Amino acid sequence: MSQEPALRTDLNLATSDALFTRAKDHIPGGVNSPVRAFRAVGGHPVFMQSAKGAWLTDVDGNRYLDFINSWGPMILGHAPEVVLSAVQDAIQGSLSFGAPTRREVEMAELIKKMVPSIEKVRLVNSGTEATMSAIRVARGYTGRNKIIKFEGCYHGHGDSFLIAAGSGALTLGTPDSPGVTEGVAQDTITVAYNDLAATHAAIEANKDQVAALILEPVVGNMGLVAPAEGYLQGLRALCTEHGIVLIFDEVMTGFRLARGGAQELYGIKPDMTTLGKIIGGGMPVGAYGGRQDIMDCVAPAGKVYQAGTLSGNPIATAAGIAQLTYLHEHPELYPELERITTRIADGTRQIAAELGLNYTVNQVGSMFSVFFTDKPVNNLEDAKTSDTEAFGRYFRAMLHRGIYLAPAQYEALFVSTAVTDDLVDHYLTACRESMREAHGL
Ligand SMILES: *Cc1c(COP(=O)(O)O)cnc(C)c1O
Repeated sequence: MSQEPALRTDLNLATSDALFTRAKDHIPGGVNSPVRAFRAVGGHPVFMQSAKGAWLTDVDGNRYLDFINSWGPMILGHAPEVVLSAVQDAIQGSLSFGAPTRREVEMAELIKKMVPSIEKVRLVNSGTEATMSAIRVARGYTGRNKIIKFEGCYHGHGDSFLIAAGSGALTLGTPDSPGVTEGVAQDTITVAYNDLAATHAAIEANKDQVAALILEPVVGNMGLVAPAEGYLQGLRALCTEHGIVLIFDEVMTGFRLARGGAQELYGIKPDMTTLGKIIGGGMPVGAYGGRQDIMDCVAPAGKVYQAGTLSGNPIATAAGIAQLTYLHEHPELYPELERITTRIADGTRQIAAELGLNYTVNQVGSMFSVFFTDKPVNNLEDAKTSDTEAFGRYFRAMLHRGIYLAPAQYEALFVSTAVTDDLVDHYLTACRESMREAHGL
């Protein structure tokens, strides 16, 4: 790519720094979502101006090769023509009606075609709304109160999910944020990911009280962690045996690991699925869906209430349909994304090994994480053995070479179809220099 900037270590961030100073006077912590503040890596956040394909441009004119892609949605790279033109067409017809539209029907049909376990689907405006609604529906359907979730999985900022594990595997959780009540914590049980026996024990200890078991089938929110062999099958069997609604939170993995998400990749049929991120093509869209008998509990078909003034928004659905249609019609892009990401993961692993670091690089499809630890990472406890100080130095060294990584160790990185082999080489050169710099080698 001729427009590729030379690797450099000088960065003028004067406008970003000035904006951040202003932002802190008006917005809590200066940001509208905590991870953006760069607190886990040090330094100040970069304010973005525009993006195209694989490249971000900040307000000072610096360019970065993007491995966040808005935390996943921009799987086709930034500003892809198919999505932009659909949105441009749609805005001519007004931005919202609060009444049914044709595109909502088309979007539901498309989602069902791509994710066959979904028999009925409801659109919402974020992943958080999708997961909050899904557990309400599961509770309404089963008439039970408790849910089981897993350490290191993230399901948005709903009260029921901001619960830390209790001191023992079978004890009830405690609020993980001020403002979440003990009452809510009583209904959430948190167990270790990839530990089937612990899940079994938690179900036995709460017999006939567990409405739903919710997890990221491939976890992206403690860094990337894959399910152990047989783990998802085991959870499926436990849920069937105990009448528990199995919810796959595929807000991150949906339409990314395969057209039908992690459930297609691993061949597991959950009872419910939550979606977000890619589904909106960069616009605020989420969805939850699943078995018809469960989804028919949702108002006005059933008695479980859930609603949204802007749900199924005409511009958001135009963007979502355009991106999903493209993915549906181009299945060949998934093996290609995996090939490119495997080059990145293998290359990073090799560079670390050459420097005597033996870091763990986890990858599934077009998601990967570089854990600054030599321990295999299969759960949150493993992930926490990472050297986060060294990661912070690496992050800053990469940023100064024009590579935009997630500003925290415990996040996954996302590869878009805009990343070419040349750009992988560019990344690996920056990676080698930054690994050295971060470790004083
Ligand atoms: C991002 C994410 C959410 C929350 O989605 P928002 O749109 O940020 O509310 C929920 N679950 C998973 C798995 C996610 O990655």
